[in-house]
Amino acid sequence: MLELDGSAGEGGGQILRSALALALVTGTPFRIHSIRARRANPGLQRQHLTCVLAARELSAARVVGAALGSRELTFEPGEVRARDFRFDVESAGSTVLVAQTVLPALWRAPTRSRLELLGGTHNPAAPTFEFFSRVFLPALGRVGVRASAKLLRHGFYPKGGGRITIEVEPTTYVVPLTWLDAGAVKRLEARVVTSGLEPAIAERERHMVANHRKFQRAKLVVDEVDSDGPGNFVSLVLEREHATEVCTSIGARGVRAEIVARHALEAAERWLAADVPVGEHLADQLLLPLALAGGGEFRTLVPSEHTRTNADVIAKFLPVGVTFEPESASTVRVRVAPAVAGP
Ligand code: ATP
Repeated sequence: MLELDGSAGEGGGQILRSALALALVTGTPFRIHSIRARRANPGLQRQHLTCVLAARELSAARVVGAALGSRELTFEPGEVRARDFRFDVESAGSTVLVAQTVLPALWRAPTRSRLELLGGTHNPAAPTFEFFSRVFLPALGRVGVRASAKLLRHGFYPKGGGRITIEVEPTTYVVPLTWLDAGAVKRLEARVVTSGLEPAIAERERHMVANHRKFQRAKLVVDEVDSDGPGNFVSLVLEREHATEVCTSIGARGVRAEIVARHALEAAERWLAADVPVGEHLADQLLLPLALAGGGEFRTLVPSEHTRTNADVIAKFLPVGVTFEPESASTVRVRVAPAVAGP
C-alpha cells in the first residue's frame, strides 16, 4: 500500500485528488495522512469528500476515513465501471475539481459515460466551467481524449446549486504531446456575468474591460444568469493560433468591481506577454494526462508550488519523471518522460 503525506509540498487538496485519479487508473491502493494539513480548514471538505465518494462509487473501492473533516484516508480501488453517474457536492465546492478527479478513469474505461455534477461552477481557487470546457478539455483533445461538457446552471459561493454534465468517450490510446508555441493572437472575448446583483457592478466591470488597451476591440458580452444565490465573474477568453487561455476573476463581497475586472485583465496580460501555449493552471492540470500518455513537453510560466507537488504525487504512482527547465525569468519548458532507472 502506497503511503502519502498530505502535508508534503503545497499540502492542499490536489495531493488527494491526484492520488484518487491515479489509484483508479493504476489499481494501486494508498493511505494518506495529514490531508490538506497546510490549509486553514484542514481535512476533507465537501468537495474533497465528494471526490472520494465519486472515486469509490465508480470503482467499488474499499474506503476508510471518508467523512467530513477526516485527515486520514485509505483507498483500495476495485475495477472501474463506466456508466451514468450523478454526484452532488452539496455545497459551493467545485464540480470541476470532482470531474478532473474521475475523468482519467472514465476515458480509459471501455464504454462511454455521462457525469452529472452539482455544486459550484465558478469558484475562486478552482478551474471555472469556461476554463474546463475551453482550455482543459481541448488540451486533453490534443492527447486523444474525447470529452465534452455543458453548463446547465451556474453555482456560486456560498449557495452552490450549479449543474454541469460531462460526456466521456472511451479512448483506446492517448498520444504524447509536444506543445511549444502559442502562435498569433486571433481573437479576444470578454464576458461579464452577474446573478442577482445591482446592475452597476456589471457596468463598472464592463467599463474596465472595454477601456483596457488590449480589449478595446474585443467581443464584450454582459450577461445576467439564474443561480441559487448572488454571483459575479469576469471571464476573458484569449484565442491564439495554437492555444486558448481563459482568465477569470470571481467577484466576492467586499471586493470592488474594478479590482475584480483588473485581476482578470492582469492574468490575461501575463499570459499574452509570456508567449507560451500553457498557462500556470493548465500546467499543473496537464501533468497527469501527459504522464498517462507516456510523456510530453510544453512551454509555460514559472511553475507554482502546486505544480511541483503534483509532479511528486504522479511520480509515486507512475514510472515517470517531470523536469522543469528554465527558459527565461518568467517561462519554463516542462518535460514529462519515462523515469530513468537508477544505477
Ligand atoms: P484545496 O486544498 O482547498 O482543495 P488546492 O490546494 O487543492 O485547494 P488550489 O491550489 O487552489 O487547490 O488549486 C486547485 C486546482 O484548481 C489546481 O489544479 C489549479 O490549477 C486550479 N485553479 C486554481 N485557480 C484557477 C484558475 N483561476 N483557473 C484555472 N484553474 C485554476
